[in-house]
Amino acid sequence: MSLIAEIPAVLDAELIRADFPILQQEVNGHPLVYLDNAASTQKPRAVLDALAAYYEHDNANVHRGVHTLSVRATEAFELARGKVAALFGIADTAELIWTRGATEAINLVAWSWGLANLRAGDEVLLSVMEHHSNLVPWQLLAQRTGAKLRFLDIDDQQRLDLSNLDELLTERTKLVSIVHVSNALGTINPVREIAARAHAVGAVVLVDGAQSAPHLPVDVPSLGCDFYAFSGHKMCGPTGMGGLWGRRALLEAMPPFHGGGDMIEWVELEHSTYAPLPNRFEAGTPHIAGAVALGAAAEYLAGIGRDAILAHERTLLAYALERMSGIPELTVFGPRDPAERSGVISFTLGDVHPHDLGTILDAEGIAIRAGHHCAQPLMRRMGVGSTARASFYLYNTPQDVDRLVEGLGRARKLFGL
Ligand code: PLP
Repeated sequence: MSLIAEIPAVLDAELIRADFPILQQEVNGHPLVYLDNAASTQKPRAVLDALAAYYEHDNANVHRGVHTLSVRATEAFELARGKVAALFGIADTAELIWTRGATEAINLVAWSWGLANLRAGDEVLLSVMEHHSNLVPWQLLAQRTGAKLRFLDIDDQQRLDLSNLDELLTERTKLVSIVHVSNALGTINPVREIAARAHAVGAVVLVDGAQSAPHLPVDVPSLGCDFYAFSGHKMCGPTGMGGLWGRRALLEAMPPFHGGGDMIEWVELEHSTYAPLPNRFEAGTPHIAGAVALGAAAEYLAGIGRDAILAHERTLLAYALERMSGIPELTVFGPRDPAERSGVISFTLGDVHPHDLGTILDAEGIAIRAGHHCAQPLMRRMGVGSTARASFYLYNTPQDVDRLVEGLGRARKLFGL
């Protein structure tokens, strides 16, 4: 049974799907239903064309050539920085550093800012909900510096528990690093409030925006944080591409992360001086094509409108949760209030192993994620080994939800539930 007729159309997902060549295929004899968007999103034709056009027409190294192709490549590379900055409301493009992704952006802050500023006895406040990318760099740094890690807990709806935030934030707290939207649950965290309270004790605030940049109408300066890390491949851009926004004063005071070509001003045998922002943090030949394609992705998302994308995902989320509520053995994790979550549904079906569920659905051409979602401490805190996760994006449709629910129904029968 489908309730599609009752769903108000926010985006014309059918029209949008036509922009994504990969979605036009069958997998295991069924039209592909791609619901693994929290892991990585698909790329529209505009992004694929930008990648090909760069290599076909402009390919050369940036910032150092006087020849025409190098000038064109440099212009395209910096134009892309402007497009991504514009999407996030960043006025000073020099504050936007290209990285390989959110992981590298967080490591940049950990090793550059962290090593220069953290001492034994200082504290870094994280949460039990973090992706490994926002845990392991701080563990490594704590081992190196003697700093201590503290953690915000979650409540029974897997929202951040801020009840003891005032106790956790002290004059010892030098950094607070928090995920904006949980990849494993879809929980949207009140980062603006956390940043304000962290600043009151003089702490620096990093927001892991890997899952908010693609799905929420993020205006980075209004979050009130000091660093914002994001990932290109989760927002219709290419893999191996992402970025870090940081406040100019902080970035300028930080030592370089990687050393090499392009990040220097002057090099002697024994010492060097460094280039101004952003090049100071972009050593070596960058992922030029990746930047150009991410610029195209930013333009594509801006053209559709991130408010519309969020509203579309919320509509699908509400429809999916309603339909899934009819499956008695299903446990859905995350906040009950849809306003507190993005288009991610993390769930278990009785005692069926999520990997078995993923395999059964894949046989029907439905791609979901099963596992710990790079959040092993969170899974342990929730008392589960792993979950199944369906995550939506702008090209998903109510029919995709129907296929998922039908697939879950077949899995139930198969496992005799
Ligand atoms: N943080 C969160 C919340 C994520 O979901 C991910 C990716 O799954 C990352 C960080 C790492 O991002 P990247 O793949 O760009 O390194």
